[in-house]
Amino acid sequence: MRLILLGPPGAGKGTQAKMLQEKYSIPQISTGDILRQAVKNQTKLGKESESYMNQGKLVPDSLIMELINERIQKPDCQKGMIMDGFPRTIEQAKELDKLLNKKEIKLNHVLEIVLPEDEVVLRLSGRRTCKNCGNMFHIKFKPPKKDGLCDSCGGELYQRKDDQEETIINRLKVYTDQTAPLTKYFKKQNLLRSISGFGSLDEVFNKIIKTIEKSA
Ligand code: AMP
Repeated sequence: MRLILLGPPGAGKGTQAKMLQEKYSIPQISTGDILRQAVKNQTKLGKESESYMNQGKLVPDSLIMELINERIQKPDCQKGMIMDGFPRTIEQAKELDKLLNKKEIKLNHVLEIVLPEDEVVLRLSGRRTCKNCGNMFHIKFKPPKKDGLCDSCGGELYQRKDDQEETIINRLKVYTDQTAPLTKYFKKQNLLRSISGFGSLDEVFNKIIKTIEKSA
């Protein structure tokens, strides 16, 4: 199964992708996670991407496509994949179509998690991420057991630069201008299904599963 998760930053794509990864035993491909790792390791890709990310801007399509091309060739993607945070522009979606056509494989589902802007700001501004393992918490909705420390590995929690309020506003604008048009693009291909991002993690997860299984 090849699935794309669409939706604004903070809609819960990453968490849901991890839950889907467990259920279907196919890898989550998060371009955001791959880029953050590259920044942490100060690789060429990381150095080229860092300033775009810190400003909440999109990393250029050419860098993203290079990264995706390499990632989807790996053997764990044979059975399928869950794309989270990719594609983010029409250009990326077109390039992905070309890559998949070449491999003679098709996308099965595009799921849009819908969430209004004020809820996005609330969720992202309170989000804290583990420096060590990337696990996410929320100061109000999912506080860690020990202040400032990750429940899973004890790593230090921090606020991502792009989760600070001015950058969130920028990321939302970028989403509306560049990523939201993808809903039309995938609707035309009859792949798009939309669900509400409100509710508990399990409620949203169950809605996703139902939607996938209904349109299988
Ligand atoms: P995310 O964790 O998915 O919100 O991604 C964090 C940041 O990484 C974004 O704000 C962008 O700067 C960059 N990024 C992640 N995925 C993409 C993509 N598909 N295209 C362009 N930039 C991306």
